[in-house]
Amino acid sequence: MDFGFSDEQRHFQETVRRFATRRLAARYAPDDRRGALDERTLSEMASLGLTGIAIDERYGGQSAGAVTTGIAAEEVAGADFNAAYLLLIPMLVAEVIGAAGSEDQRARMLPPIADGSILPCFCLTEPEHGSDAARLSMRAERVGDEDEADDLRPGGEGWRLSGEKTSISLGMAAQTAVVFARTSEGGARGVSAFYVDLDERYVQRSAFRDLGSRAIGRAAIHFDGLPVPGESLIGGEGEGFIRCMQSFEFSRAIIGLMCLACAGAALEEALAYARERQAFGRPIGANQGVAFPLAEAATLLRGARWVCYEALWRRDAGLPHRVEASMAKWWAPKVAVDAAHQALLTLGHSGYSEELPAGQRVRDLIGLEIGDGTAQIAKLVLARELLGRAYAP
Ligand SMILES: Cc1cc2nc3c(=O)[nH]c(=O)nc-3n(C[C@H](O)[C@H](O)[C@H](O)COP(=O)(O)OP(=O)(O)OC[C@H]3O[C@@H](n4cnc5c(N)ncnc54)[C@H](O)[C@@H]3O)c2cc1C
Repeated sequence: MDFGFSDEQRHFQETVRRFATRRLAARYAPDDRRGALDERTLSEMASLGLTGIAIDERYGGQSAGAVTTGIAAEEVAGADFNAAYLLLIPMLVAEVIGAAGSEDQRARMLPPIADGSILPCFCLTEPEHGSDAARLSMRAERVGDEDEADDLRPGGEGWRLSGEKTSISLGMAAQTAVVFARTSEGGARGVSAFYVDLDERYVQRSAFRDLGSRAIGRAAIHFDGLPVPGESLIGGEGEGFIRCMQSFEFSRAIIGLMCLACAGAALEEALAYARERQAFGRPIGANQGVAFPLAEAATLLRGARWVCYEALWRRDAGLPHRVEASMAKWWAPKVAVDAAHQALLTLGHSGYSEELPAGQRVRDLIGLEIGDGTAQIAKLVLARELLGRAYAP
């Protein structure tokens, strides 16, 4: 058993760490106050290959394996948790296109995502369907050449998308989206995936006023009969939900690492403070009441990190990893929130001030206890794998 990264991965880790420390870290708090990511962040991450990290080299990406993608997510999120969404969401979208798209679709859709000229978003959740996304009600209706929309190829067939998506990360800024919509009745098997331009003539967006991750512009997006050409359908009709769930097996481990890295940064700040801050004539870290919670947090962060990396390692090895990805999704954000909370308490009154990032880290981390599936849903998937579908809740 080898717990280390390869030389190439270590070198890559140092490169991303240097970039994240020098360029991203200082933007973490100001972007939160402005409620938008710094304009330079996307292009800088793209030029380092981070927006197309897992995309095949043939389509302008880095062809990085899952473990290497995890390394990048950790390094970015440790410096600026919200900038890591610029890696996560394009990766999630590209996973669907890469796995299910035709050669022509991959060649057309993936390069602009990889080079950062297009920012996509991932539209699954609806106002009435979050955890039970298989029941989603957004409709894709087939239209033919009698439809007069310019956006359909003359004489060609296409679709019109109607309905409401909500809680979409990067939804205010994205130019394109993978949209999951119903092409027939029948639960999950009636859901198809479309990759579409968010044409403002048919799409209205509104921003959430969020507790955390304010810089990522979470949005509700209303589709008012958006016309899309037939070639927007990714994979076969009715394959969308399966593709979505398969891409979650990747993103859930990446999200775990993002959260743990953010909490790891909070823990480092708390440890430094515990060494320096004096109370009752000695450093506060000399008290077990201060030191032990930090020691416990370090243990839990480490344990959860290896579950995430095991999921990614298994993915690279072509092994099933739904169990590990589900463990990662419920456990890592939880221990991260708990550790970041403990770190804040260690800082005393100054941790409660916006002068320090401790509070922002807690607010931001809570978002990914919910985003991409809650802990309960991750445990539901896990229980099904452990018990067998017939016995699971
Ligand atoms: C920061 C953030 C970013 C997000 N980004 C995106 C995005 O980019 N794209 C996107 O499509 N969505 C996104 N989401 C939405 C997210 O995926 C959903 O919020 C999530 O799946 C839960 O759905 P819901 O909010 O409708 O909760 P509900 O499904 O209504 O659930 C409410 C509560 O009930 C629990 N619950 C529901 N069913 C069960 C059950 N069977 N057993 C036990 N407990 C249950 C849930 O765990 C939850 O605690 C994001 C959310 C957040 C907070």
